[in-house]
Amino acid sequence: CGIVGVLSSHEASPILVDALKRLEYRGYDSAGIATIDGTTLDRRRAMGKLVNLQDLLVHDPLPGKAGIGHTRWATHGAPSVNNAHPHRAGRVAVVHNGIIENFRELRAFLADNGIGYSTDTDTETVALLAQYHLDRGLAPREAARETIAQLHGAYALCFLFDGEDDLLIAARKGSPLAVGHGEDENYIGSDAIALAPMTDTITYLDEGDWAIVTRHSVEIRDAAGEQVDRPRKTIATGS
Ligand code: GLU
Repeated sequence: CGIVGVLSSHEASPILVDALKRLEYRGYDSAGIATIDGTTLDRRRAMGKLVNLQDLLVHDPLPGKAGIGHTRWATHGAPSVNNAHPHRAGRVAVVHNGIIENFRELRAFLADNGIGYSTDTDTETVALLAQYHLDRGLAPREAARETIAQLHGAYALCFLFDGEDDLLIAARKGSPLAVGHGEDENYIGSDAIALAPMTDTITYLDEGDWAIVTRHSVEIRDAAGEQVDRPRKTIATGS
């Protein structure tokens, strides 16, 4: 339901939770975050209100300056910790808004390649597919691109890759997604409101766009793979 991603110079988990709080008004049944601490990708997820995720993080902190977060409004798979985002497969963590219409076909494709699933969600197939492409030897951005090309349905997505502490890959089709531009930091958000405490300068992705984001660069490509310029907008940040 809500997505956020940060490549920060500060600890990511409080920033992620604050940004998710600003998306609470949209409604959700569970929440989670994943971060990379140096080279280690890890995640925490909790049912119910964000305060439950915060409690979990007090007892079991999640260090790292790069991360993604999600508030879930379940469409496929009952609300549960196991079905909460971020979903993970191998080196890949992903958050998703929307519905992957062809997830059953994708599960069958993965099964043909000896890859099983362990949640009831449509979203997990995205992480499994991306890891499948990494296993074929593709680099993260190519793996993300191949994965996105296989998806039917509506999605805003943000990928985080183990070992890549300066990379977020985001994609949008049918669900809004924006890149936030910071000073030596960049962000992803499903809603400009989520990003307002961090930056007043954002770029909305167009239908079919995907973005390769580092702390010092934002590269946006259209569905055909062509690099494109999308306008930067200034938003009101009254927090
Ligand atoms: N379809 C996904 C799920 O049920 C994402 C739902 C959402 O947009 O929060 O997990």
